[in-house]
Amino acid sequence: MASVEEQLYALWGEVQDLDTASEILGWDQETFMPSAGVEGRGKILATLAGTRHEKLTAPALREVLEACAEAAEPGSVLAAQVRCARRVVDRAVKVPGSLTRELAETQSQALAAWQQARKAADFSHFQPYLERLLHLKRQEARAVTGDSSPGDGALYDALLDEYEPGATTAALVPLFESLKAALSPLVQGVVESGVTVDESAAQGAFPAAQQEAFGRRMAEAFGFDFAAGRMDLSTHPFCTGFNPRDVRLTWRYQEDDLRPALFGILHETGHGLYEQGLPASGHRTPAGGAVSLGIHESQSRLWENLVARSRPFWHWALPQMQEMIPSTQGATVDTLWPALHTVRPSLVRVEADEATYNLHVAIRFDLERALFAGDLEVADLPTAWDAAYGDLLGITAETAADGVLQDIHWSMGAFGYFPTYTLGTLAASQLMAAAERDLGDQDEAFARGELKPLLDWLRRHIHQHGSRYEASDLLVKATGKLLAADDFLAYIRTTTEAVYGVSVAPAES
Ligand code: ZN
Repeated sequence: MASVEEQLYALWGEVQDLDTASEILGWDQETFMPSAGVEGRGKILATLAGTRHEKLTAPALREVLEACAEAAEPGSVLAAQVRCARRVVDRAVKVPGSLTRELAETQSQALAAWQQARKAADFSHFQPYLERLLHLKRQEARAVTGDSSPGDGALYDALLDEYEPGATTAALVPLFESLKAALSPLVQGVVESGVTVDESAAQGAFPAAQQEAFGRRMAEAFGFDFAAGRMDLSTHPFCTGFNPRDVRLTWRYQEDDLRPALFGILHETGHGLYEQGLPASGHRTPAGGAVSLGIHESQSRLWENLVARSRPFWHWALPQMQEMIPSTQGATVDTLWPALHTVRPSLVRVEADEATYNLHVAIRFDLERALFAGDLEVADLPTAWDAAYGDLLGITAETAADGVLQDIHWSMGAFGYFPTYTLGTLAASQLMAAAERDLGDQDEAFARGELKPLLDWLRRHIHQHGSRYEASDLLVKATGKLLAADDFLAYIRTTTEAVYGVSVAPAES
């Protein structure tokens, strides 16, 4: 007779297999599937989602889970397995099936409406769908909290928890306020300096095949194992890990600018290294996966920004780039590096630079909370959006397509997702500072292309733990402190000063 723990893993393995099957189909849809296949694919995904929900809510799993909870010593691996499984099972049990189906249906209609609205730059076309989604997501959040009249923050926290377990509005608000207070004047200072960066070292004519080959070489140099992964083209770059021995990256390119492809690939490589570094023994168990979207994003941002955008790294990488992409032969580290750190207030989040990016996220975080608190009506969202962009970035969108309609997230009901981008950015700087305290300054290592010590450090402190610890505990264990903005702000001030000669004193708190 198998132990309760083994029974849990057997049942969980089936749930996870269904997840993985959906992910494989999703990956295929974004890479190779003909566009006419959408409808047929949707049916398969719906069947898998339904079967998954049945397995998650089956009495057998809940009984085994309760038995494991009783057997688990506090702080043990089994306790972590129970914590992770319960989060998913509780959500599945608490949210009525009728609501889940209604949400899925509304989301697919809202997605189509959003695409049309965006094309026509007409928010009013999307508005009724967004209102309906908001109404349903409120019901979902209420069901998850189990409270008939939860406080304003509690509803939003229930949504946030799906992406960033354990995160709360109360902890996030001061982080975002300190970012706004520091970054808005910094960006303003750059604009007022009148300094413009010559970006020609990153612009020109770069054949896609050469960009791909160089991107692959750099991904390998970071430690990505192509025997346990692959890379294909897609419209929007992403990474998906089916298990640590099968991790998929995607990329896209621009032939006149080498930055989108290269930094996109190296961003996804950071995600991929995390997926490949998850414990093989934890695969198909509740606590075996990545701990949160924020921690996942910390890995991508760390490799993309703190390694691949660092000056020392380019002393090592540039000669290789010039060999593989001959049209970059005119570039030097001194001309290329500033072009990797331009700061420019812009309207579109996905095209934003390191300094302005978190302001885009802060705006969405504030608006989402206002919507859920009932302080903002959907009808007033475009005006509130434009006002926030005017306040923080000093710019206003000409049309709603570049404004309130730019992101896909809300049309998919993904409220509470945006903050994880910023959590990842902050955690990346905090982890890098901690790694350098342990390993010593990495500049010389980067300049020699020695990236393995850093990867090994991340494997030890982050990857190998899967979801053994909650995200905030994992970060404290790795860095000695709770998530804070100071390491990121120190980094962004230093680079901005070096590129633009603009310095803004840290605000006294
Ligand atoms: Zn990412």
